[in-house]
Amino acid sequence: MRVLPAAFLVIGAACARPARPSQPAAAPDDLLPGVSEAAWRIHRSAILVDGHNDLPWKLREKAGGSFDALDIAQAQPEFDTDIPRLVRGGVGAQFWSVYVPVDSVKQGAALRWTVEQIDVVLRMARRYPETFELARTTADIQRARANGRIACLIGAEGGHSIEGSLGALRMLHELGVRYMTLAHSDTNDICDAATDDPKWGGLSPFGESVVREMNRLGMLVDVSHVSQETMEDVLAISTAPIIASHSSCRALAPHPRNVPDEILARLRANGGVVMVNFFSGFVVESSAQKMAGMFDVVRKLRAEHSDEKELDAAIEAWRKANPIERGDVKTLVDHIEHVVEIAGVECAGLGSDFDGITETPEGLEDVACYPRITQELLSRGYREDAIRKILGGNALTALARAEAVAREAAARDAAQNHRAERARSSGTR
Ligand SMILES: [Zn+2]
Repeated sequence: MRVLPAAFLVIGAACARPARPSQPAAAPDDLLPGVSEAAWRIHRSAILVDGHNDLPWKLREKAGGSFDALDIAQAQPEFDTDIPRLVRGGVGAQFWSVYVPVDSVKQGAALRWTVEQIDVVLRMARRYPETFELARTTADIQRARANGRIACLIGAEGGHSIEGSLGALRMLHELGVRYMTLAHSDTNDICDAATDDPKWGGLSPFGESVVREMNRLGMLVDVSHVSQETMEDVLAISTAPIIASHSSCRALAPHPRNVPDEILARLRANGGVVMVNFFSGFVVESSAQKMAGMFDVVRKLRAEHSDEKELDAAIEAWRKANPIERGDVKTLVDHIEHVVEIAGVECAGLGSDFDGITETPEGLEDVACYPRITQELLSRGYREDAIRKILGGNALTALARAEAVAREAAARDAAQNHRAERARSSGTR
């Protein structure tokens, strides 16, 4: 079932992209000319963790979520992602986004669609067991990697998915969700979004309880898409590291979706990670200027066109009228370097947003291209251990810390229950 005009997704999340020529079926060593043997060796020794991939929503849009209709074991050149390219790109762990559009709230369908999107990820892992292994913990990721498989993690985007219910949040955690983006394009009952009018001045009172509950559960709080004030509020109350699962740097590309330096400067103390987004509209300065109002444009066009096809055409026309510069691998790595400069090498990561974006830097067209980032970091003089941290080590450390915070909370709860039980039994004696 098509639930939203595809063109909305050009900007909102997963999107249609003009077909590209299929990838050559070559052995790994023949791929990506310009990537040195040394870079390949480092790349293969790392656990590459990508923070955000919108394949589940694109599968829903294009194939009703059916792997019979769209077999990702085969090359799918109209997508950014398929198994042959994930393998060639050396992906170690992928946070699959179980995004649902904010419009789903109006239809009372946000939670159901989110659960259906989780179902897509679980079915994918079970359908391709030689490639994928579901992971809920850092230990699971290490095990999947040791088994030569790609660890599949789940991230929910965004906070509208829980429909205002902490019980729903807990159940998403039970189903394997290990981060939740607090908002998407629109301000919601949890917090102000980066691309909408503010309502709360940051987190709402309910949003504060959501962050505390996520800390207690061991679910990473994702500040992609939220306003700077929301980021500040989250940093003030979160006892675990936060992530921006797919955001780049505002100092280099002035898009409201990007992370400002004031937040980067506070990230080291928190142990958080900014996983840079590959969208040209978030990484190239001129493109970010052009795309700064893109969520407003979509909102306006959505209000003007109730017919899906008309809306599709209107957004596509807007896109054609506003072409953007793509940038290249160096442009993307500039964002990584900026995070490193302001926050530290422990705070940088990758969150491609593949299959959710329309334009990528040249050389970073799909999930096979990650080794080019490794090469560029090596060329810029980054040490091997620093490169491994950026490729995924930092994300793993943040998740491990979130797990530790949850364990500490569980131990505190148990001790408190024990004390209460003792007080009750001594009272009845
Ligand atoms: Zn997003």
